[in-house]
Amino acid sequence: MNSNVVTMTTSAAVPAGPEGAITRDDTVTDGLVEANQRYAAAFTDPGMDARPVLHVAVVACMDARLDLHAALGLELGDCHTIRNAGGVVTDDVIRSLTISQRALGTRSVVLIHHTGCGLESLTEEFRVELEMEVGQRPAWAVESFRDVDQDVRQSMQRVRTSPFLLHTDDVRGFVFDVRTGLLREIDPA
Ligand SMILES: [Zn+2]
Repeated sequence: MNSNVVTMTTSAAVPAGPEGAITRDDTVTDGLVEANQRYAAAFTDPGMDARPVLHVAVVACMDARLDLHAALGLELGDCHTIRNAGGVVTDDVIRSLTISQRALGTRSVVLIHHTGCGLESLTEEFRVELEMEVGQRPAWAVESFRDVDQDVRQSMQRVRTSPFLLHTDDVRGFVFDVRTGLLREIDPA
């Protein structure tokens, strides 16, 4: 396999024993489910509406070092968070933003990319490598980039020029520094 192709791993399947009993070692997902049971035990229904309190949608990279709620002082119910590899404004992100604005009342859009993003080390060649390995080229673009500031600018542009969005006057873009935790705003010009 080509060394540039990222290997994805998933939780192991859970085979049922002879009596339907679960017979396997705990997986990562089992740990998450156990954590959820503790979470639910202390949980009280906040009685919230689905409409974000701050009327804001945040589009960010899925990077594990970016804790959006902590980094932005957000509380439960405050915002929509839309995340993917790179925080790229794809058609599917526009789909989520359109629903966020038109059905759930958000008005502001915040875009957050970050230093040291994995997409900086990939190229569109990744799609060709995938095709060589699996016999099929993905329909999606990798959306790799070299200049994170420029990538934020073009993401802001995609949001601002979308015909589907109701509110494109408050769209701001930032680069999150994974070493300092600070946001740096990107001038749209
Ligand atoms: Zn990233």
